[in-house]
This record gives sequence, C-alpha cells and structure tokens, in this order.
Amino acid sequence: MKKVILLFICFLLLSFVVIAQQQRHEITIPDILEYKTLKCDLHMHTVFSDGLVWPTVRVDEAWREGLDAIAITEHVEYQPWKEDVQNDISRSYAIAKPLADAKGILLIKGAEITRAMPPGHFNALFITDWDVLNGPTYKEALQAAKDQDAYIFWNHPGWQQKDEIPIWYKEHSELYHQGKMQGIEIVNERSYYPLAYQWAIDSNLTLIGNSDIHAPMDYDFDIRRGDHRAITLVFAKEKTLESVKEALETGRTAVYYEDMLLGKQEYLEAIFKKSLFYDHDLIPSPGESATVKLYNHSDLPMRFSLTQKPEGVKCPADFKIDPHCSVLYKISVDKDAELPEEFFISYSIGNFLTAPDKGCEVKLVFKRRNN
Ligand SMILES: [Zn+2]
Ligand SMILES: [Zn+2]
Repeated sequence: MKKVILLFICFLLLSFVVIAQQQRHEITIPDILEYKTLKCDLHMHTVFSDGLVWPTVRVDEAWREGLDAIAITEHVEYQPWKEDVQNDISRSYAIAKPLADAKGILLIKGAEITRAMPPGHFNALFITDWDVLNGPTYKEALQAAKDQDAYIFWNHPGWQQKDEIPIWYKEHSELYHQGKMQGIEIVNERSYYPLAYQWAIDSNLTLIGNSDIHAPMDYDFDIRRGDHRAITLVFAKEKTLESVKEALETGRTAVYYEDMLLGKQEYLEAIFKKSLFYDHDLIPSPGESATVKLYNHSDLPMRFSLTQKPEGVKCPADFKIDPHCSVLYKISVDKDAELPEEFFISYSIGNFLTAPDKGCEVKLVFKRRNN
C-alpha cells in the first residue's frame, strides 16, 4: 500500500511539473522573400526606470508571446524608483541577457531619451554606453547616441498632443536630415497614428510599432484571449543583432497591430501570398461554376474587397477569412465568356494597409483546368 501511495505522490509531482511548464504561443506570420520575419518589440520598461517588473519578466513574456527580439529601453532621465532600485539603467540589460540567451530571444541594448516636446522621446538601439546619453540638451543626448552608431527612432509622436494628433516640428526636420531620426513609431501601445504613417511613407522613415509596456504584459493586453501587443515585424537576413539593425536601417519592417498589418505593398503582398493556400487549377469552363477552398494559414484575418475581375466572371465581392480558417469561394463563368488559360481576380485587403487609407492589392490567380 505504501508503494502505491508513494507512486501516486510521484505522479502528482510529475503532473505538476508538466502543467507548470511554460508554453510559447507561436505567431503565424510567414517568412517572406529571402528574409526571416522576426517578431520584435523595441520599446519597454522595467523597474530600472518607471516600469513595474523585473527585467527577466520581460524576457519570459516575450518568449511566451512568440517574439524573437526585444529591446528594454529604460528612460535615461526618469527613474522614479531610484530610492529603492539602484540608479543604473544598464542593469536591466545585464540582468535579462542570460535568460534571453537561454530562451533564444535576441536582446538589443537600448534606452529612451526622454525630453519635452519638441522633439519628444526617442529610442536609441544598439548602443554601447548608457552613461553618456544624459547630455544637458536633447541635441547632445542624441549626438552621443549617434556617436555610438545607434539606430534612433521617434517614439509615440502623438504623445501630449491634442487628440494624439502628432505635429512635425522643425526640430524633427533637423534630426531627420542629420540621420538622428531613422524611424517612427506609427503604433505605440494602443495608439495608432495614421498621420505618422503618412510621414513615414513620404520621408522613407522605418515603420515601427511597439508595446511601450510598463506594467506586467497581461495587465494591459488580454493575452489568454488572443489579444497581443503591437509588434514590429523585421524582415531580416538572419536572426542576428546585425541583421536586425541592417533591416531597420534599410526600412524592411511592417507593423502588426490588433488585426492589422501596416507596411509596404511588396512585404504585405508577400505575406498574403505565403499565407493563403488554394488550388490554382480549379476554374470552371464557360457556362459552369466551380468552388475553390481558400485557406488563411496566418494569425491575421483577411478582409477582401473586389477591385477587378475579368468580364463574364461572377465571384464574391466582399468577404472575410478569419485566422486559420477557410472559405468556399465560388466562381461562375458566363456561357459566352472567353477566358484566357490563366486569369486573376484582384482584391484589396482592408486590414493590410499600405498607406493610412489604402488596402494591400492582391490577386487570386487561376489557371484553366486541362481536361
Ligand atoms: Zn515610462
Ligand atoms: Zn516615451
């Protein structure tokens, strides 16, 4: 009997170990072109500035939520807990690094240069020395970052502005022309700035979207119900710090925010093509109809609006495919329609935005069945 009880206790302990195992939710957004799609959050805080968590918690959260790279970016000028936590913002990197290495999370050295508007707050990434970023003026602080070959972007441009509508001041033009403003957050936490998105397009600034999380992640995002933080998708040659930096400098990013993708046509179209599975051969002869299964293999819904179709073809005008779902798509061809061997039907994807008011243009391509 004792043996049985012992075995039972062992079983209980073992099942506890299994249950307690952390799990990672993988984000299904495919690699595209010749790049890896790295899921990154480049703006967050810990107790070493004004955040509410220990640095290793940021690594655990990132790993559980399927991220590949993060930057912990403490405020250089603002540490409200410094009576209780030592006043050295480089410590969050040092503390988080061993766990990041163990979990395969790329940890980027960073800091937030936190000045009044204009010019506001800027993140400097890939820095080497935190101590010199506290110059008396923002110009000196950003120059000190640039001297370290940092990658610098403008944070939450709508912060402290009326209705969160950003204003581009002459200070921003100056920083932009000096190469001290290479990217811009078009999404910060829950705020999306369409105007900043348009500026990024006009000025070729890299698109960035981040959580800027201060609290534990699941205080602000309902992770268990499928909610997710804003993420910068970085299209990198490899999963290395050098490749992330190169991709940021080259503007190879997109932003994943709520159920939207924001980015250049070429990247969003490539994501679409690798995410939608269907049989291209299945099209009807004149006077007939056929049904094709369209399977959305990504984490993003796709909202289709018809933009162009061949004459004599009937097909759905507006429809949606939820993540990891499929729909049956019916094509009918008029009796007297003359279709080429291969044709396409064009749609705009309303939640894949290539500009503030422009959906990504995609094509469903079909070939005539040979029988
Ligand atoms: Zn803060
Ligand atoms: Zn800030």
